[in-house]
Order: sequence, then C-alpha cells, then structure tokens
Amino acid sequence: MADEDSQSQIGLGASEADVHAKGAHEHAEDELEAHAHDEGEVEEGESPDEAEILKNFEKAGKIARRVSDDSRKLILPGESLLDIAESVEKMIEDAGAKPGFPTNISINEIAAHFTPEWDCETLLGEKDIVKIDLGVHIDGCIGDIAYTIDLSDEHGKLLEASQNALNAAIACAKPGVKVGEIGGAIEDEIKKLGFKPIENLTGHMLRPYMLHAGVEIPNVRVSGGYELQEGDIFAIEPFATDGSGRVNDTSQVEIFSIEQTRNTRMRQSRQVLSYALENYFTLPFAERWLHKKFQSKLLLSAALKELMGSGILRPYPVLKEADNGLVSQAELTVVIEKDSARVLTKL
Ligand code: MN
Ligand code: MN
Repeated sequence: MADEDSQSQIGLGASEADVHAKGAHEHAEDELEAHAHDEGEVEEGESPDEAEILKNFEKAGKIARRVSDDSRKLILPGESLLDIAESVEKMIEDAGAKPGFPTNISINEIAAHFTPEWDCETLLGEKDIVKIDLGVHIDGCIGDIAYTIDLSDEHGKLLEASQNALNAAIACAKPGVKVGEIGGAIEDEIKKLGFKPIENLTGHMLRPYMLHAGVEIPNVRVSGGYELQEGDIFAIEPFATDGSGRVNDTSQVEIFSIEQTRNTRMRQSRQVLSYALENYFTLPFAERWLHKKFQSKLLLSAALKELMGSGILRPYPVLKEADNGLVSQAELTVVIEKDSARVLTKL
C-alpha cells in the first residue's frame, strides 16, 4: 500500500495501541532469546531481535513475491475483483502467512486503496489498467509488493515509466543517500517517458506491525530529508500518470487501521474493535474481512462509522487521480545494506 503524504504519518503516538505494540515486541524478544540459547545462531554484533526481525521480513518478502507472480494469471478481462482479492489472500494463508493489508485492486484512474466490498460484483474490463498491491506479514514483518497489468496493451510506456523509476530508485538507495534524492531519481525516470509522478503518494519505511513507520520516500525530488541507514527497510513505490500528478480522496472507504484504543458508546463498536485488535492489531484491514464475522452490514457500518468518528480507526479512502489520468504503479520492499539496497520481495 501507498502512503498519502497529505496526511501526516505520526505513527501511533502515546496511545494504548502503542503499549500493545511494545508488549508484542518484548514478547518477540523473549522468544528469540530462548531460541538463541538453543541454537546459538545469532550473529555477533547484531542485536538478536533485529536479526530475527530481518529473517521475518525476508520470509514475508519471498512469499509476497511468489503470490504476486502467481496472481498475474488471474488478471484477465471478465475476472471478478472479489475472486481475485480472495484468491490472493488465500494464497498468502496457504503459504503459512497472513495478509499484511487487504489486497488493493486499483483500476485505471484509481491509484490506490481500493479493495472489493464483500458483495462486489465488478468484473475486469477488456481495456483496464490494473494495479495489484499485496502485502504478506509474518509476526508483523511485511513484504509489500505491487505490479500493473495493461489489459488494453496500449499503455506500455506508462507501465515502463513506473517500473524504470522503481529500478532507478533501488539502484541509488544506500546508506547516506537522502530520501529526496531517491524521489529525484523516480521523477526523472517518469518524466523521461513523458509522464508525471504522483507527488502526494509516497513509499514508506516498514517496522514490525507498522506499515508506515514514519519515514516517507517521495516520488518527486525534494531537498534533503531523512538519510538512509544500514538496516532500514523500505517499500519503494513510484506511481506514473498521464494526468495531473496528484490524487484526491474519494468518499469510498473499504480499508481501516486501528490508531488508538478507547471506549465507545455502542456495544457493536466495542466488539468490532476488540475483534480487529486481536486479528489485525495495528495493520490495515478490510470491511470485507469483518463481514465474515459480523453478518449485519448495517450494524457493522454503524460501528465503523462510530470508530472513525472517535479517532479510533484511521480510514484509507480510495484515491483517484485528480484529472482522471491513467495510473501505473510498481513496488518492491528493500533492506538497506552496507553499500546498496537488497530486494526482499524476491524468490
Ligand atoms: Mn507500500
Ligand atoms: Mn503496497
């Protein structure tokens, strides 16, 4: 998934959810310590829990890549969006992992954050430009990967633009490079082919149970910013368009995540919150997923509305290109190493 930089990403702050995050982290540390004593395989000089975290990111990345590659055969005219999303999510679970966020299927001028409703009947059209953005997590460590398929076969250059930009960004990512320089590399590649990067969508740092861990990777040149460090993990995701180069929120919201926990008036809201906290923790989830547990659509949407209104849930509105331009996306997850970036979402 993408980060929308018009909204500030402040993480969870000093919320109750943060306290839970710390608890989970400490738990992981204890487990790992027991493991290290048993096997004595933790490398010197690296804190054991960072090593275990990296292993989980590597495993999640490998599964994400396999599912991503396998899912390409599903992207055909007439296929149902709901079937595609549910097949992707089943492939992830069959591989022994969990979705890091709901499968995004964003078509044509929709740039990001659409996932099918539980009763979605939309089918892929003959000439759709389809962006599949999927996430796999293992203990909160996420492999985030996206690709674009052009069913029309008329927009090869648009797809090439985001793919070239991703390659260029990865080639220049290493310790000491500032995020603004990576944005510059992305912008140059996309403009070279006559398109615009989407300037208010960004890549993002990943941490366990944090899809957007504070640092953004812009898709345009900006001065300065965060300097990459060895060990950092990032999702890099250029978006190219023949439109204006900006996205706007639409009124449709299918994806949410828990920002903080506090009490609510309605009993149904408390039930939804406690279910989501237990099953998704701080990671994004879909209304479609909750519908499997909470059958009444009316009560479920009332609960989600109350939870959003009281700042407990963060909504991820479906994002649409401001001039209805066509949008392509390419995304991989990388770890910054001594003198380069290594792709984690690879076989
Ligand atoms: Mn992402
Ligand atoms: Mn993504």
